[in-house]
Amino acid sequence: MATRRILTVDNSADLSVLKQRSQTVESVDDALRALMDDMLETMYAAPGIGLAAVQIGELKRVLVMDLAREPDEPAPRYFVNPEILWKSEETLPYEEGCLSVPEIYDEVERPARVKIRYQTYQGETVEEDAEGLFAVCIQHEMDHLEGVLFIDHLSRLKRSRAIDKVKKAAKAA
Ligand code: ZN
Repeated sequence: MATRRILTVDNSADLSVLKQRSQTVESVDDALRALMDDMLETMYAAPGIGLAAVQIGELKRVLVMDLAREPDEPAPRYFVNPEILWKSEETLPYEEGCLSVPEIYDEVERPARVKIRYQTYQGETVEEDAEGLFAVCIQHEMDHLEGVLFIDHLSRLKRSRAIDKVKKAAKAA
């Protein structure tokens, strides 16, 4: 396992990758599992609760997530080719952040509940209902697969302010 560099919006080359649509994974094999292991390690090191493959520069429809909180045991989850089968009319506002938009947090309103289908780490296809933080996180991460960032859900002014802030912080660092 290895920690990989996370692409961020202040870097224009990174941003152009983050804006791309990720490709469907044809088979869940050992090479893909090695990628998922790297993604998980990178996410834990950041630290973060979710990561899409595009955030380490791999345009594949793969996500990792861990919503467990201390002192609970880590509960890593893997999602290959996730799809949303259903979303609720009811929405939930939640203050989101993103490892590719460091230190920026803002409220995004999304469907409160979704039904998803995906392949697991072992390549098994499963369906699952998501609500609460799980629903927020899976929708945020699935946006990444379409080249969409959470700041794209904000007003144009808020979005450009967010990118300026990240650029300034990167320069200062
Ligand atoms: Zn994100």
